[in-house]
Amino acid sequence: MQSAFISLTLARDIASFGMPAVSGLSPELELSYSLGDCVIGIGDSFGFMRHLPCSESMRMFPATSTDFKGYQRWRRQNGFSKKDPCDKTSETFLGLQKYAADFGIKMFLERAVSKNTLLYILALLQKLPAPFLGNQNLREIHLATERVIFDTDFGAFENGAAYLYNKGISGSRKNMIGWLLHELGHSTDEGLANGELQQAHRVLAEGDHADPSVIYALDWGYGREDRKRYIKERWKEFVAENHLIYIVAGKNFREHIRTLPPGPIQQAYQYVYDFLKNSVFGGYEY
Ligand SMILES: [Zn+2]
Repeated sequence: MQSAFISLTLARDIASFGMPAVSGLSPELELSYSLGDCVIGIGDSFGFMRHLPCSESMRMFPATSTDFKGYQRWRRQNGFSKKDPCDKTSETFLGLQKYAADFGIKMFLERAVSKNTLLYILALLQKLPAPFLGNQNLREIHLATERVIFDTDFGAFENGAAYLYNKGISGSRKNMIGWLLHELGHSTDEGLANGELQQAHRVLAEGDHADPSVIYALDWGYGREDRKRYIKERWKEFVAENHLIYIVAGKNFREHIRTLPPGPIQQAYQYVYDFLKNSVFGGYEY
């Protein structure tokens, strides 16, 4: 696959980020594949490979050729091909590593992933402006790792390093965008003591003003309700998630603010948007 086609696919994925998937599979299978489960063929037989809860380990369950074909169809529409595995010595990864190094970021790849996956990640990084990637709190990106923090399932951010676990890189492209941009977004909250941002979180997530708008929680990962609960609980998660929202739903974000009645909710959204625009993205808007 050519890089131009990858960029086009990424642009389409971002433009349709908030829309529900339409693979024709049951919602359960759709969710399962999007979170990294798959169907494999071994000789004449087939097996569902499912992640055990809260684990990188997988267990195999019986599957049919129909399941296999359904999975292949889903993967073509929503995931990455498994062709051309590239490890950390591959030209494709070295190219990605060089791109990140120009912004002072060290990039690591633990397990081999397909060439398309790496090209897609490069295209995603190319969408981020220099002030964001050059943030001094973002020093490392680790791809396809084992989990490093117990209570996170797909990725993490710790001490200047963003992690996209093996599980987070093997499901849907949409979720990979979500996990990666969310984790990179944590580089902003690291060391940030911003009372107004915390206040905006309180207004939007807690108390009488709580706003359940479509912008406030996009439909990805385990779904809208899960994201909503997640960012309600911790203001740092709220900050990280808003980076993703700013990028994949920038137009909706602005439109939402514009159509809200004047008041604390509108002010809080405006504060968050302006903070991201001016202090994180160097004025760049999506
Ligand atoms: Zn987070």
